[in-house]
Amino acid sequence: MAKSRTAPSDPYATRLVNVRAAMAKARIDGLLVLDRHEQYWLTGFTGEDGMVLVTPTGCVLLSDRRFDETADREAPWAQKVLRKVRSAAVTAREIRRHKLGRIGFDARHIDVATHAALSKELRPARLVSVQNLVGRLRLLKDDGEIAAIRRAIRVAEQAFLAVWDTIKPGQPEREIAARLVFEMQSRGAEEPSFPPIVAAGANASLPHYAPGDAPVKANEVLLIDWGARSGWYVSDLTRTMSIGRMPRDLTKAWDAVCAAHAAAIDAVRPGVRAAAVDAVARRIIRSAGFGDRFGHALGHGIGLKVHEPPRLGTDSEDELAAGMVVTIEPGIYLPGIGGIRIEDDVLVTASGREVLSSLPVRLPAG
Ligand code: ZN
Ligand code: ZN
Repeated sequence: MAKSRTAPSDPYATRLVNVRAAMAKARIDGLLVLDRHEQYWLTGFTGEDGMVLVTPTGCVLLSDRRFDETADREAPWAQKVLRKVRSAAVTAREIRRHKLGRIGFDARHIDVATHAALSKELRPARLVSVQNLVGRLRLLKDDGEIAAIRRAIRVAEQAFLAVWDTIKPGQPEREIAARLVFEMQSRGAEEPSFPPIVAAGANASLPHYAPGDAPVKANEVLLIDWGARSGWYVSDLTRTMSIGRMPRDLTKAWDAVCAAHAAAIDAVRPGVRAAAVDAVARRIIRSAGFGDRFGHALGHGIGLKVHEPPRLGTDSEDELAAGMVVTIEPGIYLPGIGGIRIEDDVLVTASGREVLSSLPVRLPAG
């Protein structure tokens, strides 16, 4: 039955070649891909029960009967195995057929109990931890991935503009968050890339605030951090605004965040250390007197996940390279008063950068 399979076409053919090269380097002859996003990246399979086994010559998709047709449609070239029972013994039996010696896995994608059971059942084959093998290959986005991220950004921006026009004092944060989700999904997003943060007034000083019943008030700050997932790729944006005028005790912070945001974007280029880009923003915020009020990293990679490498932070060892898509999101948080954060999505290009998002930083007053 395996002989009737067709070969994968791109992008999967190229990805498999690259994964096998990384496997050879890591001295493993099998790779268990346990993360759903990584399975999608490698095969196009979207079913929620899956496990992908890459061998030097094959690619096995282990799922169950609910995803029989999904697998045929999305990854007809992969060797499909539908398990009746999802036990470690059954999974191990399928894996053992390939007579592998060292099987790699990413320790972040398996729980301790499953690891113990699989290790036992797979003997004499050994499970070998190879952290981030697929993750490293996903760092650089190909044209199709960049196009998907652009669509996710466009959907999020259009949804935001539709909601922004209707925000009025008195509306609770939760309602604005719900309408953002509705507008994104109406425009083709599969889902929000994370539950939107809508923080009114003093709530905006909590960087990861969950929207509640607090109403939006005139002449107070309103921070919205949101994104869409479209074609499995995500966007991640933040705008801080006010209905009326920006509160006086936040204008200095606003100016500092705007300056840090612009300077950090200008610093993005291939070959630069991610920590150096973070430092550009941090220096500006520190010299404005808010050095201890910018308590998170400047940014992070986006792609199939909202937070993926590289990390743009003070302690990051990453270096930017053409093809990475990162957020630039400096912020200043003043407890009891509010917070300012501006976040855009930026593609590192061969010659520097392209800001993929297009909303103005300074939104017209509502
Ligand atoms: Zn965000
Ligand atoms: Zn972010």
